Amino acid sequence: MAVKPLDIVIIGGGIAGCSAAIALSRAGHDVRILEKQDAWRFQSSGIFVYSNGLKTMQKLGVLDEIIAAGFPVQNGRNAYFDHAGKEIVDTFYPSAENGRIPAILGIKRAEIHRVLALRMQQLGVMVELGTSISAVRQSNDQVHLTMTDGRTQACDLLIGADGVRSSTRDLADIDVVPRYTGFGVWRSVHRRPPDLTVKVMMMGPAKRFGIMPISDDHLYTFGTVAEPADSFFAPSDWPDLMKGRFREFTGPAAPFLDELDHEAEVLYTAVEEIVLPLPWHRGRVLLIGDAAHASTPFMGQGGAMAMQDAVVLAAALKSHDNLDDALAAFGESRYPICKFVQDVSRAVGEAGAREDVETLDARNAELRASAQQKVDDFYNRLDEMNRLADSRLGQTD
Ligand SMILES: Cc1cc2nc3c(=O)[nH]c(=O)nc-3n(C[C@H](O)[C@H](O)[C@H](O)COP(=O)(O)OP(=O)(O)OC[C@H]3O[C@@H](n4cnc5c(N)ncnc54)[C@H](O)[C@@H]3O)c2cc1C
Repeated sequence: MAVKPLDIVIIGGGIAGCSAAIALSRAGHDVRILEKQDAWRFQSSGIFVYSNGLKTMQKLGVLDEIIAAGFPVQNGRNAYFDHAGKEIVDTFYPSAENGRIPAILGIKRAEIHRVLALRMQQLGVMVELGTSISAVRQSNDQVHLTMTDGRTQACDLLIGADGVRSSTRDLADIDVVPRYTGFGVWRSVHRRPPDLTVKVMMMGPAKRFGIMPISDDHLYTFGTVAEPADSFFAPSDWPDLMKGRFREFTGPAAPFLDELDHEAEVLYTAVEEIVLPLPWHRGRVLLIGDAAHASTPFMGQGGAMAMQDAVVLAAALKSHDNLDDALAAFGESRYPICKFVQDVSRAVGEAGAREDVETLDARNAELRASAQQKVDDFYNRLDEMNRLADSRLGQTD
């Protein structure tokens, strides 16, 4: 029992689109990606992938290349400091397969895409850069696309993997708007001092400043802070603004903040969420990745969720013989897990935003008492939910 091999068009060649192309192509479907950018470009320096995301990369057949391209954090250790550089507590994230799969891998986004793009090429996935769609029409058994250059084409399944501001979502009349979360994230890239081998998380008053190795040579920093809605900051001002926003951070942050001059590689992102109830499909148009469930970044799980969508979609198409049932089963399988991640991540961000200087000691005491338990509880619950979802689709690890 399986949906017959499909002719699939994916809009968007980010983590979700590339992963879906790999999983679906491996499952025997014919896949094309349309990506609006005319060259692979990444609005981000680095990303961390926790062991659950790495397990998905193993299922996509790219784990070894990804590990080789990234930086596995030593012992999965996250070292908490306050903003003055005083140690608070260490937490340790779970690895998998007796340590063969690291607990946390830092990696440049460009490296993830290099590995995924190579795998797609090996599988014969066609990628059209500089292309998008301007209209979608569905008939009983096909989706008819008008491309931005006027060409038309048809397919059996259209997947919108075009991120938080998905236009596939609009073209399919799926009514949801991105919600600004109140947070801005400032990121910068630096040379990695050889002794910086763990993930560092500095807890300021209602601000966070993280430091994460992404390769033998480089690390990236990320600072989260409340920013007014609709703020616009000219990119040329980003280094100064980042330096100013986090000026109270000393200790491990200081050398990197000091380095922020007009030549620094700095990126600002206003964080938006997509909270979309089921169904995530309309007829033969399906949303995956951030287009369906963009999250705040506090759990570092958005990329992992996007990759897992890909693997679960391929499994759902294999375990159902009717496309609509398969797409519904995909949504039912993914929705509770993505919602859990979004809810936990949002709660972490909102708790941080409520802090002030008077509550910091209590916050630090609470971190010492419960941070490890919270990590364990989160990953145990994620595991449990994944096992349940997998067993419903007849998947095993
Ligand atoms: C500040 C920040 C930090 C984060 N850190 C982490 C982290 O450490 N770990 C983690 O796992 N996740 C992290 N995330 C989340 C992660 O970045 C996203 O969940 C993930 O990139 C989603 O991938 P996607 O492919 O769904 O969307 P995107 O990455 O947005 O990709 C969408 C693609 O579609 C293309 N596109 C858009 N519109 C069109 C169109 N009309 N036609 C054709 N193509 C189109 C875009 O050019 C892009 O290539 C973070 C997010 C933020 C905001």
